[in-house]
Amino acid sequence: MKIRAQIAMVLNLDKCIGCHTCSVTCKQVWTSRQGMEYAWFNNVETKPGIGYPKDWENQERWKGGWKRRKNGKIVPKQGGRLAVLANIFANPNLPEIDDYYEPFTFDYEHLQKAPELPTAPVARPLSLVTGRPMEKIEWGPNWEEILGGEFDKRSQDYNFEAVQKDIYGQFENTFMMYLPRLCEHCLNPSCVASCPSGSIYKREEDGIVLIDQDKCRGWRMCVSGCPYKKIYYNWTSGKAEKCIFCYPRIEAGQPTVCSETCVGRIRYLGVLLYDADGIEKAASVEDEQDLYEAQLKLFLDPSDPAVIEQARADGIADNWIEAAQRSPAYKMAVDWKIAFPLHPEYRTLPMVWYVPPLSPIQSHANAGAIDTIGEIPDVRSLRIPVRYLANLLTAGAEAPIVSALERLLAMRIYFRQRQLGEGDGAAVL
Ligand code: SF4
Ligand code: SF4
Repeated sequence: MKIRAQIAMVLNLDKCIGCHTCSVTCKQVWTSRQGMEYAWFNNVETKPGIGYPKDWENQERWKGGWKRRKNGKIVPKQGGRLAVLANIFANPNLPEIDDYYEPFTFDYEHLQKAPELPTAPVARPLSLVTGRPMEKIEWGPNWEEILGGEFDKRSQDYNFEAVQKDIYGQFENTFMMYLPRLCEHCLNPSCVASCPSGSIYKREEDGIVLIDQDKCRGWRMCVSGCPYKKIYYNWTSGKAEKCIFCYPRIEAGQPTVCSETCVGRIRYLGVLLYDADGIEKAASVEDEQDLYEAQLKLFLDPSDPAVIEQARADGIADNWIEAAQRSPAYKMAVDWKIAFPLHPEYRTLPMVWYVPPLSPIQSHANAGAIDTIGEIPDVRSLRIPVRYLANLLTAGAEAPIVSALERLLAMRIYFRQRQLGEGDGAAVL
């Protein structure tokens, strides 16, 4: 066994209010540059929805090449600004600019200099690609939130899972949730494996995945290779770029920008100790539904004296071992089992974990579906279907999701009873 340390992030989806502050602050710090206008190292998706870039979860499409659907049929793409080099190197599995969005700014001068009109002038969108005013904004990183009415049509067009089609058919069963996304800093990163130049590496000390800009040759195999589509091609520099987990801040003992500025305080950072020799086995478990459990087995109890001794022998610094002992990531992901990896079936062993949302819960509480006095209710009565969460977080295994939701509900009932003076919460302990 060889022990390594990994910095991980846990996001409590119940607390995300979809304000996008994380995305905007990240952009201001890291990607507010020419060539990266379209790139969001952190973005917040409204789910269910096709996401950003479009359709990133559609692995059928991804495996068969990054292709567009027209009238329900898959047709190969024609190329485009981001795909030109890719076509040269016969790498067709690339998203194009339309799959992200045409980035724009506003014509602020127009606001100030427009002649007097009966109504105030509006800020006209200006394309950052062509530099000209845009007639229509066709797509954006969080389009579903803006145009929720197109869910049903889009989900069918884009071959969403059957469960979603069923749900969209019945308005009273519709649901939504926010999913903030960033690079997963995977334990088994396919971007590293797919880079012909060897420019992508996973840092030995903390597991942060970085691209050496001097070595990158712009092949963009990493863009195809990352199932989360979290690597972006900078069309000015000709290099690939990705979330760097704010490593200069981490090294200075500060949280990432997205964590520090998160309005909902949903993000927790922590260190996990894991068995690096077990990665191959965990990633190659045959039955997808066992992948989540297999991944969990990699993580070691940081308070176990044998683990501490071995970690020291493997060169892990004492302050990292202490950080692992205090780690909310270990507590939530491994100990309490209330946080899950995103799409473990992609087998890259992602290190951003999600606490599944219970919301919206108040209407159910008012209707008596959530019992604040007695026992924990059936979590299947919650608005967001267990099956949907299981497809997102445990490769379809429902039992871990049910157990986590029950724990979260029990905690909610416990505190609510105590706060409202309705009891001491003993019934749910
Ligand atoms: Fe690489 Fe993608 Fe994993 Fe990030 S999410 S480490 S870019 S494979
Ligand atoms: Fe959600 Fe926090 Fe981002 Fe707001 S800042 S969208 S609450 S993750």
